[in-house]
Amino acid sequence: MSESLFDQASERLAQAIAHVHISEDAIERLKSPKASLQVSIPVRMDNGTLKVFQGYRVRYNDLRGPTKGGIRFHPSVNMDEVKSLAFWMTFKCAAVNLPFGGAKGGVAVDPKQLSKFELERLSRGYIDAIADFMGADVDIPAPDVQTNQTIMGWMVDQYSTIQRKLCPAAITGKPLSMGGSIGRETATGLGAFFAIETLMPLLKMEREQTTVAVQGFGNVGSAIADLMSKAGYKVVAVSDSKGGIYSPNGLDVPSIINYKQSTRNFKAVYCQDSVCNIVEHKTISNEELLQLDVDILIPAALENQITEVNAAQIRAKYIFEVANGPITPAADAILEKKGVMVFPDILINAGGVTVSYFEWVQNRSGFYWTLSEVNDRLKQSMVAETLRIWEIAQQKQISMRTAAYVHALSRLSEAIEAKGTRDYYVR
Ligand code: NAD
Repeated sequence: MSESLFDQASERLAQAIAHVHISEDAIERLKSPKASLQVSIPVRMDNGTLKVFQGYRVRYNDLRGPTKGGIRFHPSVNMDEVKSLAFWMTFKCAAVNLPFGGAKGGVAVDPKQLSKFELERLSRGYIDAIADFMGADVDIPAPDVQTNQTIMGWMVDQYSTIQRKLCPAAITGKPLSMGGSIGRETATGLGAFFAIETLMPLLKMEREQTTVAVQGFGNVGSAIADLMSKAGYKVVAVSDSKGGIYSPNGLDVPSIINYKQSTRNFKAVYCQDSVCNIVEHKTISNEELLQLDVDILIPAALENQITEVNAAQIRAKYIFEVANGPITPAADAILEKKGVMVFPDILINAGGVTVSYFEWVQNRSGFYWTLSEVNDRLKQSMVAETLRIWEIAQQKQISMRTAAYVHALSRLSEAIEAKGTRDYYVR
């Protein structure tokens, strides 16, 4: 098995091709990114020294529209990872029918080691370095792991400064005061929730009898845990990079969110605060969380969490991939044999990019929507695409992942065929 994340991502394409009519030309077009950029970003640190960070941006495919994808700040960011994430974005945008291609970006940095001013200088430096590669009709960044509204605000301001005009549609996930969309911050979690709710009756499951474990308690993980516990599901375990907590009777998720916001972590110190009195729990490792005997497991942290090493120990019945790429292809095969049903990232976490699309539309029209307009449109799209992918999986007797790729591939293939024919070149 290849160590390369991109090789693993490409395997999904190979699996789907067998189930869809698609030309060799189209397959060839989808095998490699349109353009990849690696940049060095010099940043003056607060102590006067100069540090140079490595940044990346990959525009995978723009056949269905300008490319779209988040920016990640994490020490392990590299070209292979960014290329894979851009590949997934291409299929995600097609799977939920957005008029976008796929892209992704990132900087190899531990942002927690930087002061606020150093982080702002790095964010602006990243935009300086990729400015010629992006734009509202070209490539539109957004937040991802360890980036947020504030960082998008600095970035869109930098891009507007370079262009000498306001360019709100060039970046999504901005603060509301700079043209952000209401509902964007919770959109990925809410989109996942709508998909899960659509699938529950089809899986013959009932909320109150359903236990849930969530790995990763950041922007998306905390939102989905909150939504599910408020809807009546029993969220029994959550974790972050420092570890997790577990209570078979269910956790009080809003209290954990408040606690985490004030202390920035919940393991170890969890019991020294009033939150501890609200619900009994025990601390567990991330590995233990993944192996809990629950109905639903939601990986919402990083990629490669369930691999051939631990897949056999997974006891959940259903896995909803809120993170991008949390399960390797080798692990997929083991889970399928065990009867664990996996609902793929390119569908489940598509709510974020869907509301990013709504933000871009609002910026371009200069007309802003209400929260219920945003959430209603998000729901309409997530429900329709989830049902369509479910139908494909049932009709073709394939996994939900392969069905999602088949669904996306048909739309990508249509765009490729519409752009030009072999006959034009080969006469
Ligand atoms: P985030 O930085 O807000 O949160 C990440 C969380 O994961 C943090 O709580 C961190 O402590 C935790 N974590 C990191 N390593 C871990 C580990 N080994 N075990 C357990 N927890 C760990 O990031 P986010 O925006 O919530 O993104 C999470 C995932 O969702 C990523 O895969 C991202 O690509 C995907 N995603 C995010 C969005 C979005 O809108 N932010 C959209 C689509 C997909």
